Amino acid sequence: MKLRSCVFAPVVVLAAWLGWAAASTAATTATLPDPARAGFADRLYRLDCGRSLANDESVWTPGENVGKPIEFSSTCWLIKHGGTWLIWDTGVPESALNDPKGWSTLPQLIVYHLDQSISGQLSAIGLTPDDIHYVAISHTHGDHIGNVALFPKATVLIQRVEYAWIRSPDGPNANVNQLKALARKLMGSPKHLQLLDGNTDVFGDGSVTLFPTPGHTPGSQSLLVHLKQSGFIILSGDVAHSAANLRNDVVPSLNTDKAASVTSMENVKVMMDRYHAQLFINHDKAQTDTLKILPAFYD
Ligand SMILES: [Zn+2]
Repeated sequence: MKLRSCVFAPVVVLAAWLGWAAASTAATTATLPDPARAGFADRLYRLDCGRSLANDESVWTPGENVGKPIEFSSTCWLIKHGGTWLIWDTGVPESALNDPKGWSTLPQLIVYHLDQSISGQLSAIGLTPDDIHYVAISHTHGDHIGNVALFPKATVLIQRVEYAWIRSPDGPNANVNQLKALARKLMGSPKHLQLLDGNTDVFGDGSVTLFPTPGHTPGSQSLLVHLKQSGFIILSGDVAHSAANLRNDVVPSLNTDKAASVTSMENVKVMMDRYHAQLFINHDKAQTDTLKILPAFYD
């Protein structure tokens, strides 16, 4: 790791000096930050990126809650680091805005609604999509990548394994194949794409770290952010859909790898201990409803 620090330190300094253009290529593969030495991001905002109603909770809790409806939140997060902005996931496509019929990734199972556009929420704090430098993607399910095309100037940060997976041959699960086809369509071919191989220290100071949490999809990742007042916060991606699933290592039937899902949930619990971190669970409506929302922020 010493060699790696030597190689990348000048890159980070150069990136800071060159500003926007260089900052968009500053992400580096790294180890997880030292909790005592990690830098800070300035602000963390929650955006409302949709809500959904599924007709069978047992897909997320196999063997239990068969045929029971469940509501999920869809959340995006915006991080300010100096003059640089990163958005984590992009939610339900804006084309679904206020559409009473809603939008779906799997029409037999789930319907999403979008009550507020991402661009409208950004404008509430004086930003446009062009002001966003990084779009970091937890995974390629449609409710997380619905608006990638809204950010053509940004660098898309996604695990290499995930990007390859949506282009891989179909497997036995028809739902998973359907999700992959939709993912190819929604991802398109981003102009600025950075494929990641494991842990990634986005700003080179340990303030924002992407780390793999495979299992829900092969290249799923989560995000660890460090803030001055709030301390460490982990943004889940879909490593778990609820606090109860995390606690009990419950794996949804749509996940591509059950054993990897359990390992990833255990890893998140270890990280919560190590960093004294809060975990914000994307789709856990009960928790999401208690969290601050833009224009309020965590700092
Ligand atoms: Zn998902």
